[in-house]
Amino acid sequence: MVIFIKPELILTPGEILENKGIYVEVDTGRIIDVKEYVGKSDINIFLGPNTVVIPGIINAHDHLLGSYWPRVGEGPHISWKPWDDMLKSSEVYKERSKIPNFYLYVLGAYKNLISGVTTVSDHIPHKVNQEFIDKLPVRVISEYTLAHEVSSYDLKWGDGVEIEHKRAVQNNWPFITHIEEGFDEESMKGIDYLESYGALTDHTVMIHGLALSDEDLDKISKAGAHLVTCPISNYFMFKRIARLKEWFERNINVSLGTDSPMSGGMNILEEAKYLKMAYKVKYFQDLDNRTIVYMVTKNPAKAFRIQNKVGRIEKGLFADLVVFRLKGNDPFGSVVYSWFNDIEMVFIRGIPYYGFSYYKEVFDKFSGIVDYSKAIIDGKERIIVGDLEGYVKTIWNFVGFKKHLPFLPIFIKD
Ligand SMILES: [Zn+2]
Repeated sequence: MVIFIKPELILTPGEILENKGIYVEVDTGRIIDVKEYVGKSDINIFLGPNTVVIPGIINAHDHLLGSYWPRVGEGPHISWKPWDDMLKSSEVYKERSKIPNFYLYVLGAYKNLISGVTTVSDHIPHKVNQEFIDKLPVRVISEYTLAHEVSSYDLKWGDGVEIEHKRAVQNNWPFITHIEEGFDEESMKGIDYLESYGALTDHTVMIHGLALSDEDLDKISKAGAHLVTCPISNYFMFKRIARLKEWFERNINVSLGTDSPMSGGMNILEEAKYLKMAYKVKYFQDLDNRTIVYMVTKNPAKAFRIQNKVGRIEKGLFADLVVFRLKGNDPFGSVVYSWFNDIEMVFIRGIPYYGFSYYKEVFDKFSGIVDYSKAIIDGKERIIVGDLEGYVKTIWNFVGFKKHLPFLPIFIKD
């Protein structure tokens, strides 16, 4: 089955295309062409004016196991450790612990989907997440190795930095770790430790990097290693954000992530807006919207070594797509300044996973492939893959009351 999706604009995101649509072969989930309409499609989705399609957003850092609310342990702290101690001794952590891991993953997956995210990097050991990854309504990156972070008091995920990094290189996977998330003596030696293990390479994806010095950044740039920033989480825990201008000046590949909602923001859309604002406050300069869109599409695809699958709208890649409402004539700004109701539709492998209910005719054509339900999200009627309302009610049963989760603003009638 071939579908043709035609918005007003396509953001590839390197180029802005007008008068073109996206041909998708649904059996393979891949884009077969990006061109003018020439017929030869089984389903046509003409999205009309004021719509822009971008590649499905990649959230470069989340911990789906921590998909709960509210935040705990506000800083400023000297390192992540006092925050982690406060989290684990908190009432809300006890409440969260009543929910089986799979359901926390489901909450996290829907949090991401309704903010236009189609691929998530879940920084959690394989033994925790491997049985859930295929059952979620978003893509979760499954091929990676990891460490928790690089210090003597880290949480000992995986088989140690040296072995995990070597495994990443052998398999052409990313090696993912938190780095210098804090300002104590050990945190600030993160890059030196990585180097001593031979683990600072172009396979290395490092999260936070708050204490990175100019010398560290030069080494990262030279190695072709990748950085991920989570500004809301950083500000909550440390009352500062990373030295992003210094990162960009060295042409380091930088991506944006959310962290979990127990330290970070509601979703990647809030993170994008916060990044824009915080950058201006820190540097008295504008961070352009194009850079921010790259930080959630092609940059993370490169960092996580999945650029032949997702992150761009291009023949041969998966048709993971998000349709945004186009505001004015700035497609990049339309993404950065968007909120829930600016997302018209989300597709994964060419299949609609989420959208306004006025696209019902489109969803009906896919009802033999995936199951849908209705949900009122942020006040508007939606069609969404799976039984979101059922999942939320199950969560309520586990915790014993109608838990409010602002990252999933669903209205459920009594
Ligand atoms: Zn994290």
